[in-house]
Amino acid sequence: MSKKVLVLGEVRDGALRNVSFEAIAAAKQISDGGEVVAALFGDQVADLAKELIAYGADRALVVEHPHLKFYTSDGYSQALLALIEQEKPEGIVIGHTALGKDLSPKVASRLQAALISDVTEIEGSGDDAVFVRPIYSGKAFEKVKFKEGLVFITVRPNNIAPLEKDAGRTGDVQSVSVDIKNLRTIVKEVVRNASTGVDLSEAKVIVSGGRGVKSAEGFKPLKELADLLGGAVGASRGACDAGYCDYAMQIGQTGKVVTPDLYIACGISGAIQHLAGMSNSKVIVAINKDPEANIFKVADYGIVGDLFEVVPLLIEEIKALKV
Ligand code: FAD
Repeated sequence: MSKKVLVLGEVRDGALRNVSFEAIAAAKQISDGGEVVAALFGDQVADLAKELIAYGADRALVVEHPHLKFYTSDGYSQALLALIEQEKPEGIVIGHTALGKDLSPKVASRLQAALISDVTEIEGSGDDAVFVRPIYSGKAFEKVKFKEGLVFITVRPNNIAPLEKDAGRTGDVQSVSVDIKNLRTIVKEVVRNASTGVDLSEAKVIVSGGRGVKSAEGFKPLKELADLLGGAVGASRGACDAGYCDYAMQIGQTGKVVTPDLYIACGISGAIQHLAGMSNSKVIVAINKDPEANIFKVADYGIVGDLFEVVPLLIEEIKALKV
C-alpha cells in the first residue's frame, strides 16, 4: 500500500546536506508511489526548498523561525511535532547525523512510534520494505521490518543513492508557521573549532592518519592528498589522544562512523574500535610499515611501507594524472 512519508532536510552553512537527498530517495522507496513531503527548518532557508523538489520530493514545507536557525532539541521537536500533526504521515525519514540521532528518538518516543535507526539499505518497498542496519559495531547486519503505525527511519549518510537531480521538476512549496516556545536552551552562535573543510560524514574520500603520523606536522601530506582527491582528513583515536589532531576528526566506535567511496588509512594499526567506524567504506587502502598490522585484514589494497615515503609518491602520481 502506498504511504505518505515526511523527510526532514538538513541545512549546514546555508546549503542542504547530501543526506537530505539520500533521505528523499529512501522515502520514495518506502512510500511506494505515495507522497513524499520534504520539510525544512531554519531561518531564511526557503530558497533551498526547490532543491528538495528537484531531488524527488512531491511537496516541500518550510518552517522559518529565528529559534530554528541553530539546532536545539526543544525547538526542532516542536516544529516536527507540529508538521506531523498537520500532515499525518505514516513514515518519517531523517539523516543519521548528530541532528537525526538526537531528534528522532525524542519525537518517536513522544508519539510512541517505532524507530529504525542507522539504516544503510532498504530492500523492497511500501509495506514489504526491509531495513538493513549494522549492529555490533558493523560486525553484523540485521534486517528489520515494521508492522504498523508511524515509523521513524534514520539513514546513514553516503549509503542510499540519491535520485538524479531534475531541476525542471515542480512541486508546491508551502510556508508553515509554528509557535516555538518554552525553549530550555537557545543557541546564540556556533563557533567552528577548526576549519575542517569537507564534512567527514559525507566525504566521498577520506585520508586518515594514526599514531604512525607522529605529529600534527605529519598530517600535512595527508591533508594535501585529501585536498587533491576532494576529500576530508580523518584520524584514529591514537592520533587524537597523542594531540596530533582534533577529536572532531576521530573515526571509530567512539568517533564518527563513515562510509566513503575511498578510505586511505595511513599509520593506523586497525584496532577493532577504529574498524567499527570505517570498515564499511567501499574501497579501503592501508599504508603501514608493519606487514602484520590488523588494518590489512580489512583493506582492499595494502601498501607495506613508510607513509612519509608512500603518501608523497601518491601525491606526485595524482598530480601527474591531473595535468
Ligand atoms: P597504534 O595502534 O599505535 O598504531 C600505529 C600504527 O602506525 C602501527 O600499526 C605502526 O606500524 C604504524 N606506523 C608507525 N609509523 C609508521 C610509518 N612511518 N609509516 C606507516 N606506518 C607507520 N580508536 C579509534 O581509532 N577510534 C575510536 O573510536 C576508538 N574508540 C575506542 C573506544 C574504547 C572504549 C577503547 C578502549 C578504545 C578506543 N579506540 C578507538 C582506541 C583503539 O583501541 C586504538 O588504541 C587506536 O585505534 C590506535 O590508534 P592507532 O592505530 O593510530 O595507533
